[in-house]
Amino acid sequence: MSTETVPPSSAESLPGGAPPVPPGADADADVAQEAGEHGPRIDVAELTRFLDGRYAEVRNLVRVNLAEKAEILEQAETLSREEFRERVRDVVVEMAATGQTGMGFPEEYGGGGDIGASVAAFETLAYGDLSVLVKVGVQFGLFGGAILQLGTRRHHDAYLADLVTGRLMGCFAMTETGHGSNVQALGTVATYDVATQEFILTTHGRQARKDYIGNAARHAEVAVVFARLEVGGSDEGVHAFVVPIREQGTPLPGVGIEDDGAKMGLNGVDNGRLWFDGVRVPRTSLLNRFADVTPDGVYESAIENPNRRFFTMLGTLVQGRVCVGGAGINAAKVALAVAIRYAVRRRQFEATSDEQEELLLDYGLHQRRLFPLLAKTYALHFAQEVVAGQLHDVLSGIVDDEHARRELEARAAGTKALGTWHATATIQECREACGGAGYLAVNRFAALKADTDVFTTFEGDNHVLLQLVAKGLLTDYAGEFEELDQLGMVRFVAGMAVETVIERTNAHKLLERVKDLLPGGEEWDREAGLLDPDYQLAMLRFREEHMLAGVARRLKRAIDGGMNPGAVFSRVQDHVIAAARAHVERLVLEAFVEKVGTLPDGDLRTALQLLCSLHALGTIEADRAWFMEHGRLTVQRSKAISREVNGLCRKIRPLAVDLVDAFDVPVEMLRSPDLLGG
Ligand SMILES: Cc1cc2nc3c(=O)[nH]c(=O)nc-3n(C[C@H](O)[C@H](O)[C@H](O)COP(=O)(O)OP(=O)(O)OC[C@H]3O[C@@H](n4cnc5c(N)ncnc54)[C@H](O)[C@@H]3O)c2cc1C
Repeated sequence: MSTETVPPSSAESLPGGAPPVPPGADADADVAQEAGEHGPRIDVAELTRFLDGRYAEVRNLVRVNLAEKAEILEQAETLSREEFRERVRDVVVEMAATGQTGMGFPEEYGGGGDIGASVAAFETLAYGDLSVLVKVGVQFGLFGGAILQLGTRRHHDAYLADLVTGRLMGCFAMTETGHGSNVQALGTVATYDVATQEFILTTHGRQARKDYIGNAARHAEVAVVFARLEVGGSDEGVHAFVVPIREQGTPLPGVGIEDDGAKMGLNGVDNGRLWFDGVRVPRTSLLNRFADVTPDGVYESAIENPNRRFFTMLGTLVQGRVCVGGAGINAAKVALAVAIRYAVRRRQFEATSDEQEELLLDYGLHQRRLFPLLAKTYALHFAQEVVAGQLHDVLSGIVDDEHARRELEARAAGTKALGTWHATATIQECREACGGAGYLAVNRFAALKADTDVFTTFEGDNHVLLQLVAKGLLTDYAGEFEELDQLGMVRFVAGMAVETVIERTNAHKLLERVKDLLPGGEEWDREAGLLDPDYQLAMLRFREEHMLAGVARRLKRAIDGGMNPGAVFSRVQDHVIAAARAHVERLVLEAFVEKVGTLPDGDLRTALQLLCSLHALGTIEADRAWFMEHGRLTVQRSKAISREVNGLCRKIRPLAVDLVDAFDVPVEMLRSPDLLGG
């Protein structure tokens, strides 16, 4: 519980409580109303338990491990790049010994047999040094995940036990200098040689060399290499192969390795380039869960359509995306914990008293800068919990249907994009909120900024991912989904009536229901209370539905008018991205509202309702121009929303420290001794 002395605020205008502040209400009256009334109190331990959820034990194990290895945060600044890479490798292997990094692997290979636990462990690791996090992600998530998901028993038996302990280090070599996002266009070739029953891997030119590959420059002995498979002269598309690349530190014959050198951040990870000059690997090196080549050179797959096969293969690797999204959200928590706790110690200028200067956090502007980000962090936390749960269910076989898989992929893409962009924005704002002190490395922001920056790019560039989300929405994850590339999607949508696209989306059905729930019928947006979650959700559902319909209409009109599908897609791309973002923002708010709904009446529920409303109204406010353009916000109501956001910030002020303390970032991970008074 925080101890600073700011008048507790009122929870009066909460959903289910008294009516909301009417448009045009006087802001001063609002302040007066708050003063002297008692707002909710937060039991920090209770909130931590609520946030940690079913994997509290796993998260606590990681917290303890992080605290024990806290010196690595300083070593990131003091060791040379080479020394730091070695140190990071050692820490990763030591952490593997505690079981925290292997939780997603089958128990028979020394894993924990629980996908959800492995995501929770990874997310929590993001409180600490992010080179360690990313090296763990490369070794166990990407390399290990590819062996597990794309391989079969023989690969599991050969590699899993060793990679789970870190005895065998590996890398995941998909991206090439010439192609990152467009994986289907990779240039590395694996040709089957019937005579020797081997694949021959060849890199044709600089553009086809593997690039940015984590673990490749120093530590990996084995690579999972993505290459075009050629059998009997025909190109079967991109497949994955296990390829030994070095022994005792020395590259194997035919394997070229080059260090990517210094990076903007994550310098404890040895990213590098790989190329292959006629490297031979046995036929059994093909990770053959979805396709195989017989000894006499016949290509076989249960999935006939090559596009579908490719997307099914990539779909199994979705865990990495879920993990990076969660890591971004948790890195934002570290930044907020430092900035908010500093802001209840730091004073600047006399404002409300002649005796002493004002605490930063008592300035309305400081609250406005930090609290919507705090609210969004909570919202994303709960959205992440939903997607991690879906991942667990799908990958553990608890849920086994195609539609659920496609939905998971889209949701993972969307949450990753929003979560990592949120991290970048939040860390920057928090750095500035700490003034000059925020710039000192000891206060964490230097590493947070540098190391999380690339989260928006790896595991899928965020803009490319949002296009994937839109594709799912526009086709309603149709059976044809996997077979559709972007242009196929354009044609697919153009082939339907716009109404069909809209009818297929959930947003439409949800909005219909909400109209029934809210007062005012068609005028629901004018009559409903601003703090009513049904109103807030209806606004986001309306925006999503409207944007999606707009995209469908534009695609259809242009195709009907004879335009080239590629040109059409390019022209509406901004609209596509906006629709996808609107969709994900709706999912995020829904997750928050639903989670708060699971709490019994009491202070915690009241406090999180405040935060949830702040998130919802902040989101509407951020896009108020759109809502006004589309007749869903009057000028007066738009102003009332801004006033309400300010009011909510004031109400959250006394809760803010507890809200960040509940993240339970180990104090050793915050460092910042002068900022936090440690
Ligand atoms: C530190 C680091 C570690 C990495 N680790 C690994 C690893 O271990 N293994 C691995 O395989 N890869 C790894 N990568 C590669 C990473 O996954 C790719 O960089 C990423 O997928 C983006 O690909 P790209 O760099 O080719 O960017 P591009 O795809 O060229 O994208 C560049 C820009 O173009 C935009 N763009 C692309 N396509 C479109 C489109 N259709 N419409 C509109 N805009 C578009 C993107 O939004 C982006 O802004 C790593 C990268 C880094 C930096």
